Amino acid sequence: MAEPLGDWTRTHTCGALRADDVGADGVLLGWVHRIRDLGGVTFIDVRDREGVTQVVVRENEGLMAAAKRLRPEYVIGVKGVVQRRSDETVNTKLATGEVELLVREIRILNEARTPPFQIADDSPVSEEVRLKYRYLDLRRSRLQLNIGLRHRVTMAVRRYFDANGFWEIETPILAKSTPEGARDFLVPSRVHPGEFYALPQSPQIFKQILMIAGMDRYFQIVRCFRDEDQRADRQLEFTQVDVEMSFARADTVYGIIEPLMQQIFKEIGREAAVPILRMPYDEAIAKYGSDKPDLRFGLAIRDLSDVFRDAEFRVFKEIVAGGGVVRGFAVPAGNRYTGNQIKGLENQAKEMGLAGLISVRPGPPPTSTVRSLSETTLERALEIAGASRDDLLLMAAGPADATSRLLGQMRLAIAKKENLVAPDAYARLWVTEFPLLEFHEEDGRWYSMHHPFTAPLDEDVDKLETDPGAVRAKAYDLVLNGSEIGGGSIRIHDARLQARMFRRLGISDEEAKLRFGFFLEALEYGTPPHGGIALGIDRIVAILAGESSIREVIAFPKTANALDLMAGAPSPVDSKQLRELHLKPQG
Ligand code: ASP
Repeated sequence: MAEPLGDWTRTHTCGALRADDVGADGVLLGWVHRIRDLGGVTFIDVRDREGVTQVVVRENEGLMAAAKRLRPEYVIGVKGVVQRRSDETVNTKLATGEVELLVREIRILNEARTPPFQIADDSPVSEEVRLKYRYLDLRRSRLQLNIGLRHRVTMAVRRYFDANGFWEIETPILAKSTPEGARDFLVPSRVHPGEFYALPQSPQIFKQILMIAGMDRYFQIVRCFRDEDQRADRQLEFTQVDVEMSFARADTVYGIIEPLMQQIFKEIGREAAVPILRMPYDEAIAKYGSDKPDLRFGLAIRDLSDVFRDAEFRVFKEIVAGGGVVRGFAVPAGNRYTGNQIKGLENQAKEMGLAGLISVRPGPPPTSTVRSLSETTLERALEIAGASRDDLLLMAAGPADATSRLLGQMRLAIAKKENLVAPDAYARLWVTEFPLLEFHEEDGRWYSMHHPFTAPLDEDVDKLETDPGAVRAKAYDLVLNGSEIGGGSIRIHDARLQARMFRRLGISDEEAKLRFGFFLEALEYGTPPHGGIALGIDRIVAILAGESSIREVIAFPKTANALDLMAGAPSPVDSKQLRELHLKPQG
């Protein structure tokens, strides 16, 4: 039976009481976390969002009867006096651990069914059960901390942008198809039969129009929707810190985002150094085999082609002569690997699609899995790769990008296996000068690597028609620990160049008019140069919280299979609703 709260007011949260409060009267309101019934005395840990406080019920005035009824997760109020804990019960791990509340009155505000898993301990529970009972999962300390961190990060973001003259402006959720290139979520219109709104994949067009509208500096913490297959760690809806600035160059954007990252890192008590390293895309691919390199460890890939141009090893020599490369990296202390371990690496490489992984031991004399290589060749390769006597050099050959990408995967696998990543290391960088376009063999067309509003580098514009693959973009990604946490660009602000861009993408003038006509028209009314970025707040908070999945920092995430297990979405709707929306029931 539930008792009313009556006139009780909370005096302290369950995380507040300290030795200074000894002697004070207190009212705590919260959940029963743990109960220890020792006969004449019962200890109850009471929990709320702020922490846990021990309360003591001693045998007197009928309090015991109430104490005996308590079960974990009952909601209670306790009134009493703060006292120092006896020396043997002081708990140094708990912020409130020096004190306890000696109870004079208990109110059972609500009972609780036995939860399907314990809230008080962190023992593993299947993800399915966690998501079905998300409200209970959210009571556990892991998610309380994560959701609290997320709140602090979003507040830091809002404070920062406000202080820097950005206005938070909302943009429509019921919108028109946008150009990010994923599948849209469509919402049928009841009033306009056969027509649909699209949920925004991002507010890209709106934020650019806000610049045309003279809003100068915009930000928004905004939900974006992409109907993608749930590979990797994605959600159908996710949150971006969306930013756009007038009269911006890439440097202007970096200059705004870097101090923001410092503010965000303060929320976990870490300094973030600025300026953040900048690395052109080409270099990131060549040296790390990735456009989002993880720089928490070395293992940089070096180009060894010169060594093998005239070397005795025919396979490498021919690859280099044919325009390919030989590349490799040194595994620190890898020289201790046994023959079997090296075989293991080669097999792993094969699984990743890297057929010819070749290893070199420093010696003396240096030796390689390829026996025909001379000592001089090996010495040179080791030297260029920066391999020391304890290291093992791994090499591969083939087309430049593909070889680096495969070695890049090896690099990540080895870092993981060798524990080269310190758990509290953070490495940030900007990857800059992305290619503007990429060619898709399937349909023989060029696609935007970012989105079609991204501006080409001024010096590359002329190549748009003649050598599209060589055009670099004024686009940048922000990378943290090998994850892309943000991306953006300086935009095309000239209507003619924008039209040329659509043509380059094989979008006919009619189609461009149909899909983006309103935007092309807006561009003609005095558009300032502008640019921006969007940061993925789910991923940022997950990394700061030390979580590998963004589901751990979203209050109500969907499963990898796109289901809301708690509310049971998606779900069928009745045929009346369908008819109103001019949709035919299935089957
Ligand atoms: N709208 C882009 C995205 O969501 C980001 C940007 O260009 O600002 O990826």
